Amino acid sequence: MQRDQQIFDIIRQELERQRHGIELIASENFTSHQVMQAMGNVMTNKYAEGYPGRRYYGGCEIVDMSEQLAIDRAKQIFGIEYANVQPHSGAQANAAVLLAILQPGDKILGLDLSMGGHLTHGSAVNFSGKLYQPLFYGVNKETGLVEYDKMEEVALAEKPKLIICGASAYSRDWDYTRIREIADKIGAFVMADIAHPAGLIAKGLLNSPFAHCHFVTTTTHKTLRGPRGGMIMMGKDFENPFGLKTPKGEIRMMSNLLDMAVFPGIQGGPLEHVIAAKAISFFEILSDDYDVYARQIIKNAQSMARSFVEKGYQIISGGTDNHLMLIDLRNKNISGKKAENVLVQADITCNKNMVPYDDKSPFITSGIRVGVPAITTRGLTEDHMPQIVEWIDKLLLDADNEGLQQRIRGEVNEFMKQFPLYPEMG
Ligand code: PLP
Repeated sequence: MQRDQQIFDIIRQELERQRHGIELIASENFTSHQVMQAMGNVMTNKYAEGYPGRRYYGGCEIVDMSEQLAIDRAKQIFGIEYANVQPHSGAQANAAVLLAILQPGDKILGLDLSMGGHLTHGSAVNFSGKLYQPLFYGVNKETGLVEYDKMEEVALAEKPKLIICGASAYSRDWDYTRIREIADKIGAFVMADIAHPAGLIAKGLLNSPFAHCHFVTTTTHKTLRGPRGGMIMMGKDFENPFGLKTPKGEIRMMSNLLDMAVFPGIQGGPLEHVIAAKAISFFEILSDDYDVYARQIIKNAQSMARSFVEKGYQIISGGTDNHLMLIDLRNKNISGKKAENVLVQADITCNKNMVPYDDKSPFITSGIRVGVPAITTRGLTEDHMPQIVEWIDKLLLDADNEGLQQRIRGEVNEFMKQFPLYPEMG
């Protein structure tokens, strides 16, 4: 077969872009070479609808071994009883939980998208806001912290069936105990979406949701540093307290209902090659190296936040407990969109992001979100953070200076040569 050189050339360009730049997108990371190798393997050829030991196709004995390893390792990482590693993405994991426990029209309560929540937590443009009746809590205008009192007020008044916690752009830890107390007052389920900080939770650096939240979902490609994908977990499998029934009218354990919601509920054949890659990334997370990595993420984020504050930047909530921070640029007279574009000119990537109570649209925004998981994987430490902030500050203060952008791009490219990325790829 003729080689598709055109696409391989484009992939090569993307490799070079990743090598030369400073990656500050909080949801991105660099998987290991072995994780990537597993994603391009023969298991992509295999149909395996069902679960290990109970499949709808023959010839699944071998993929069963790798999927079971992924499940067992996920359970070991978080010290939990149940993991479903089949969701193709974080959005699919959330969709499956909602499908398992809700009926169309049921009320759900999540963090507002414009305050840091995720689309799948009830946004009007997402299935979660279309199929279900979304309600929201937010963060305090002054402190930037989640308003648990507001969450409780809305919960008591509206009685949602599900409370969702977790976020895409929130730099502080969560009070899972308080959220469960609120849920118990109204007989609601709690789902924690830990897509962002999962790797830090895995190493005990942030509060664990498992004892308090009925369901925990995550992506596998952010701080967990695995392949692009999702996962659903439960600390303890439980008999469903509200008597939820399967389509056949049976009352089953929650694990059963979740498995059925993923397949056949919303997905067909699992991506067994990606599941093999998930298993490898979980193997890596169980190592001491990952422990060092997770701790370094926090050191880097705190050093970066300090440097921004020293230069007069306003970080929502004043700092960070995790791997990211949300910066309000309104006192710097530049929009998030413009800031993102200027930084890209110097090979520094981050994303524009609405800040709480933003007066600009999601396409313009008043802020940027920056995170350190990717640069920490590259080997950057807390001592490198002031230099990055110095570059960002110069670029944003003189945003139309193309000569400056070009000069800093040269400095960034030279700087990143110290931190080789995928040397195996030549
Ligand atoms: N949940 C949260 C909190 C996220 O931040 C994201 C992605 O950014 C997702 C879910 C969705 O993940 P995916 O892009 O894999 O569907």
